[in-house]
Amino acid sequence: MPPTPTEALLSRDPSVRQAYSADASGLRMLPDAVARPTSPAEVADLMRHATGSHTPVTAAGGQSSMTGGSITDRGILLSLRGMDRILDVDVANATARVEPGIGVAPLKRTLAEQGLLFAPDPTSEEEASLGGAIACNASGARSLRYGATRRHISALSVVLATGELVELRRTRLEKNTVGYAPIQDPIDWFIGSEGTLGIVVAAELSLLPLPARVTGLGLPFPGDRKALAFVLAARTAAAKGHVAPRCLEFLDAQALEIVRAQEGGSGWSGKAFVYTEEEGTGDGELDFDAWLALAEAHGAVTNDVLVFDDDAKIRTARLLRHGVPATMNERGGKFTDQGGRRIATDWAVPYPRLAEAITMARAAVAAHGVAMPTIYGHAGNGHPHMDFVARTPDEVMAVNETIADILRGILPMGGTVAAEHGIGKIKHRWMAMQLTPLQVTAMHALKHALDPDRLLAPGNIMS
Ligand SMILES: Cc1cc2nc3c(=O)[nH]c(=O)nc-3n(C[C@H](O)[C@H](O)[C@H](O)COP(=O)(O)OP(=O)(O)OC[C@H]3O[C@@H](n4cnc5c(N)ncnc54)[C@H](O)[C@@H]3O)c2cc1C
Repeated sequence: MPPTPTEALLSRDPSVRQAYSADASGLRMLPDAVARPTSPAEVADLMRHATGSHTPVTAAGGQSSMTGGSITDRGILLSLRGMDRILDVDVANATARVEPGIGVAPLKRTLAEQGLLFAPDPTSEEEASLGGAIACNASGARSLRYGATRRHISALSVVLATGELVELRRTRLEKNTVGYAPIQDPIDWFIGSEGTLGIVVAAELSLLPLPARVTGLGLPFPGDRKALAFVLAARTAAAKGHVAPRCLEFLDAQALEIVRAQEGGSGWSGKAFVYTEEEGTGDGELDFDAWLALAEAHGAVTNDVLVFDDDAKIRTARLLRHGVPATMNERGGKFTDQGGRRIATDWAVPYPRLAEAITMARAAVAAHGVAMPTIYGHAGNGHPHMDFVARTPDEVMAVNETIADILRGILPMGGTVAAEHGIGKIKHRWMAMQLTPLQVTAMHALKHALDPDRLLAPGNIMS
C-alpha cells in the first residue's frame, strides 16, 4: 500500500527529528515525526489526520523561541519554513499577503525595495519567521513608536485543530457594541497564542511608508542611574514634541563590554549607554541640538556621542546591539551539556518605574548571591532584559528563585512577567503569579472551544 498523502509528509528519520529538536531556550525535545508542508491544503490534511489519530502537533518557524515554544517531544513538529512566499504586494493600499515561513528580515528587505515598511523589528529578525512573530506577537526596539506585531496584521488564514481553514479579517469599525470585547476581533485570539489555538498559514500585513531618512544617536553615560533618567526625560520631551525617538535602547556596563569586544574600537564608551533613532522626512534630520541639550542635562559624556547617519551605519549599530543576546546565548550554550543555560527575563514595568525596578532587581540578585546578569534592552517601553548564565542545575535553580523574587517586586509596580518572549514551556509558574484565576478560566474556555483535545502545541502557555 502506498503511504497516504499525510504519511508522505511525515519524516521519522532520526537525523531530521534531531535537526528540529532545539530552539533558543536551551531545552531539547525530540519530536516523534517532522512534517514540512508546502501549502495550506497540506497543513489542513495533516491536522485532520492528527485529530483523527489524536496526535499532538506543534508549529515551528525559525525556532528562535526563548521559551521552548517551538520544540516538542509529543507527536509531530510542524515546520512552516517551506511556506515562505510573498503572495501579493499591493503598493497602493500598503498591504502584502505573505506565507508564514518567510524570515522577518528578508520580508522587510523585499518590501523596503518597494518603499514599504513592515514595522515589527524583533532583535532576532534574521532568525525569526513571520509566523513565529505573529504567534508570539513579537516586538522590538522600534515598538516604542510602532507597537508590537499585532497592530500590523490585518487578516489571517488559520488552520484549526480540526483541519478547517478559517479566514479572519480585523474589523475596521470605529464603533461596535456587539458582544464582549475579547470576542470582537477573533484575529486577536491567534496573535500571541504561541501555536496553541491554530496554525497560521497566511497573513495580510498592514504596511507603512518607508521613512525617507533615519538617524541614530549613541549616548554614553557614567552609569545606569543617569542613563535611565535620560530615557525618562526623552519620553517626556517626546510627549511635548521636542524630540521623536522611535527607539530608546539601554545597555549596562556588561552589555557595553560585549559591544566593545565585537566592535574592536572604543567608539561605544561610558559605563552605560542609550541608543536612539529618529525618522526624518525628505531631507529632514533629527534635532541634534535638542538631543544634545537633553543628554547634557542628564550627565551624558557628550564629547563621545556617536552619530549613525546612513543605513549602513544604522545596520551596524543594530547588529552590535543584537550581538548582546546572541553572545549571551553562546555563553549559556557552553553549559547545556552539564545542565546549565542562559536564562533571560523579559519582564516589563510602566516606563516611569524602570529605574526603581532595576535597582530592586539588582538588590535581589545581590541578596541571592548569583552572578550579576547583563542588563540591556527596550528601556523606552520600561522593558529591560536581564540575561543570566547558569552553569549547573543548582545555578539554574538559584537564578530562577532570584527571578521569582524580582517578579514579585515588579508586579505591584504594575509590571508584567513576560513582555516579549511569551510563556512557552518554561514560564508557567511566572504567568500564574500575574493572572487571576478568572483570567486563567477564561483562557482555558477559549482553548477548549478551539482545541478540545488539546492537540495544538501541548505544554505551551498551559501545562
Ligand atoms: C538572540 C535573540 C533575540 C531575540 N529578540 C527578540 C525581540 O527583540 N523581540 C521578540 O519579540 N522576541 C525576540 N526573541 C524571541 C523570538 O525570536 C521571537 O519570539 C520570534 O518571534 C519567534 O519567531 P520564530 O519564527 O523563530 O518562531 P519559533 O521559535 O519557531 O516559534 C515560536 C512560537 O510560535 C509558534 N509558531 C511558529 N510558527 C507558527 C505558525 N505558522 N502558526 C502558529 N504558531 C506558530 C510556535 O509553536 C511557538 O510557540 C529573540 C530570540 C533570540 C534568540
